[in-house]
Amino acid sequence: MDTFEYISATPRVLFGSGTLEQLPSMLQTFKTKTVLILCTPQQVSTAETVQKIITDAGVAESAIFSKAAMHTPTHITDRAVLFAQENKVDGIVSVGGGSTVGLGKAISIRTGLPHLCIPTTYAGSEMTPILGETENGRKTTRRDPKILPTAVLYDVDLFATLPVGLTVFSGINAIAHAVEALYASNTNPVIQLFACEGIRVLCEALPALLQSSEASQQDLLPQKAAREKALYGAWLCGICLGSVDMALHHKLCHTLGGLFNLPHAETHVVLLPHAVAYNASAPAAAGAMAKLASVLPDAEGDAVRGINALYRRLRTSQLSLGGLRMPETGIDEACDAALGSNRYKNPRELERDGVRELIRRAWAGEQAR
Ligand code: NAD
Repeated sequence: MDTFEYISATPRVLFGSGTLEQLPSMLQTFKTKTVLILCTPQQVSTAETVQKIITDAGVAESAIFSKAAMHTPTHITDRAVLFAQENKVDGIVSVGGGSTVGLGKAISIRTGLPHLCIPTTYAGSEMTPILGETENGRKTTRRDPKILPTAVLYDVDLFATLPVGLTVFSGINAIAHAVEALYASNTNPVIQLFACEGIRVLCEALPALLQSSEASQQDLLPQKAAREKALYGAWLCGICLGSVDMALHHKLCHTLGGLFNLPHAETHVVLLPHAVAYNASAPAAAGAMAKLASVLPDAEGDAVRGINALYRRLRTSQLSLGGLRMPETGIDEACDAALGSNRYKNPRELERDGVRELIRRAWAGEQAR
């Protein structure tokens, strides 16, 4: 076994169904008097449910700020911090996907306020000390242990409203964290266990969720069980993202997302098979690819084959960067940016022809190979 370092730094986690009712007692440990509740404009009713639970329990006052947006624009964070000051809040509750959690992190790192997350997608941001922010169209990312939320409350029931398309995309987004954790330059055996289990569980849950969404209401019970599995898997994948360094796939998603304002989860979906195919031939990734193939159904020992088979089951094979409105002329720009000065560790060296072909194939929606 190779020498490894394992650092465990994760927030307190409460996981289950109906756990939202535990929010007041979790908040009491923060000793907060006034809570800032964050959400997107689309999830105000969920934020109001959270507010009602806090109010009914009489544990704190609260105010809702509902302007969270993708890629954490700093002008929105400025407004939220001002709103927090006006309302004299001393704690943050973010309820939503990665965009809302990102806003919570951005306010928390600026103000030092404790931050409790209630995730409603599988993006995994709540388990990471990473914050990506956008200013004047430029996205920058930083890592700081102080960014890590104080506590996370996972309530499976909040995922009942997640549209099936986003369920599948966001679930694959989670799988991508685990895939890159397997071949991370600083991977370790513990994270590899989390990664394999996260992928395995999501590969069971996502097809089941897709299937039951197409069936009628009578499938509610299996749907709930599948949702539980999916969230459990996504949590494990989120730990992977927060614990070890990501590589080519995440770098490409970050670069392309910023350059062409692409939707986050869908960009991950399009690029993942191509990034795996690019790295599959690298001797340094051989062990990781074998592990990946062992948990992907129908892989028959071949990780790329396994990902392609999963995509056929989830009906995501037809997605492309072109379909996400990235211009074809952007392929070279994306390639230059990905190979730019901010180099990162990847199991296969970054060769211009190979990376360009990867992006071109993803742009055209061709199958990874
Ligand atoms: P999102 O948070 O932007 O959510 C997408 C849409 O779905 C929003 O309109 C949201 O309100 C809605 N939604 C979310 N949950 C819902 C639910 N249960 N029911 C109904 N509607 C729901 O999307 P995302 O993919 O979760 O997050 C993307 C953002 O998170 C990006 O900005 C990305 O950079 C960031 N992110 C950061 C990290 C990190 O570690 N820093 C990790 C992952 C993602």
